Amino acid sequence: MFTKRTKKALVKAVFTKKSPVYVQFAVTKLCNLKCRMCGSSLSRKLETELTLAQIEKLADTLDKLNVGVVLLTGGEVFLRPDIADIVRIFAKKNFTVRLQTNGILADEEKIKAVYAAGVEEVTISLNTLIPEKQDKITGQNGSWQEIIESIARFSRILPVKGTLLGVNTVVTKENLEELPQIIRFVTGIGFYSSLIPIHLSPSDEDAFIIRRHSPESAFHPGDSVKIDAIYRQVIGMKRQGYNIYNSYKFLRNSPAFLKGKRINWHCDSPYLYFAISPSGNFLPCVDIKTSISMLDDGFVELYHSQDFQEKIGRMVKNCAGCFYACWPEITYACRDPFVLLERAILSIKATAKTRKPVNHSQCLSIIEKIRSEFPVFLPNIK
Ligand code: SF4
Ligand code: SF4
Repeated sequence: MFTKRTKKALVKAVFTKKSPVYVQFAVTKLCNLKCRMCGSSLSRKLETELTLAQIEKLADTLDKLNVGVVLLTGGEVFLRPDIADIVRIFAKKNFTVRLQTNGILADEEKIKAVYAAGVEEVTISLNTLIPEKQDKITGQNGSWQEIIESIARFSRILPVKGTLLGVNTVVTKENLEELPQIIRFVTGIGFYSSLIPIHLSPSDEDAFIIRRHSPESAFHPGDSVKIDAIYRQVIGMKRQGYNIYNSYKFLRNSPAFLKGKRINWHCDSPYLYFAISPSGNFLPCVDIKTSISMLDDGFVELYHSQDFQEKIGRMVKNCAGCFYACWPEITYACRDPFVLLERAILSIKATAKTRKPVNHSQCLSIIEKIRSEFPVFLPNIK
């Protein structure tokens, strides 16, 4: 459930459209995996990471900006030995604290520590139900097994009420046909499924932070019919009550983005959201670099200045556009009352519903059952 602070921030954001309700902070540039469509570690090679004292200062700044939700991401958040302390810094100021992780390094002790520190939502990345395919994508043998084990650990350790557990899936050519099966698995264990369309760059030399050149993951014009068909099925599943975190509006627009069209969804950076780099720089979003330090004493004043807002506004206007789930979903929720209502209902349902904890072998049985019932589920490894 959202904290009081987050509810207030959301109301302000909805009414003013000029209050940053959501922030993503990359606590580390490092990752234990090398997913082929992710440029995070590569593009941040030269960055340093903030100390706990600097993160305290950052939290004070976010407090003054009336931020509600803080998503801690990376790289891989559990590579920071002090991740529970980082969670605690934000939780004690009543931010809603979310973690994004690949899960592999999150042992029982660490999960208990971040929960005790105040984390309320965790999303784990899983791109396929086929072990060999996941290992190809992440560049690490055995990663699929370890991710499933981690999903089971989070399921058992986090209380069923009041916490939200999710699975993030980057939608690529390699897993498109699997989406309904992934959603069945995620719903089967009481988690929520979030589908994020793949973002690629023409080469690895581009200035993006996250996007990377990955021809294996890219869609081609001949995939259009399949993309439409799978998304129709996904939207139908959401109507039937499957646990899908994306809004209908986001799901309806995703096929066009996957087919290479630019979606005009009215990016609200820096007014409703922004991101923070591992070294504490302000970023309009996860993909665009700046050298503006949020640790500078005058940052709050700078943020509210016309010069700053115009400068960031120009960067946003000239950017390549995107359809990462988080940013458009906030714009939709703050600008479209139907989406806001949909998200409010989902949020209440997701945190109040009694999810049944599952162990590793139960996860594997659910997957095996899905594999036997849905023969479309065939390996497609390149
Ligand atoms: S997608 Fe996530 S898990 Fe994979 S390399 Fe990037 S940060 Fe690491
Ligand atoms: S539209 Fe541009 S600035 Fe806005 S979130 Fe997407 S890439 Fe970032």
